Amino acid sequence: MIHVNVVRYLAIQLLIVQLEEDVMIRFLVILVALSVFAPTLANAHGGGCRKSSPPGQCCHMDNRAGSVHCH
Ligand SMILES: [Zn+2]
Repeated sequence: MIHVNVVRYLAIQLLIVQLEEDVMIRFLVILVALSVFAPTLANAHGGGCRKSSPPGQCCHMDNRAGSVHCH
């Protein structure tokens, strides 16, 4: 059980160092920004995804352009 406590202590120390260097905060800001803007972009035109969309992509008709595109 001492081993677990040592690992935990080192992990906390590492986090503190990263926070002092502002790296962790930047990383979190990027993560939050991605999680906020990615769904917004995917649903930019609404209408949902076509069943034929490839995995990880969302294809749908762009009513303005009159064509199907994926993102
Ligand atoms: Zn689109």
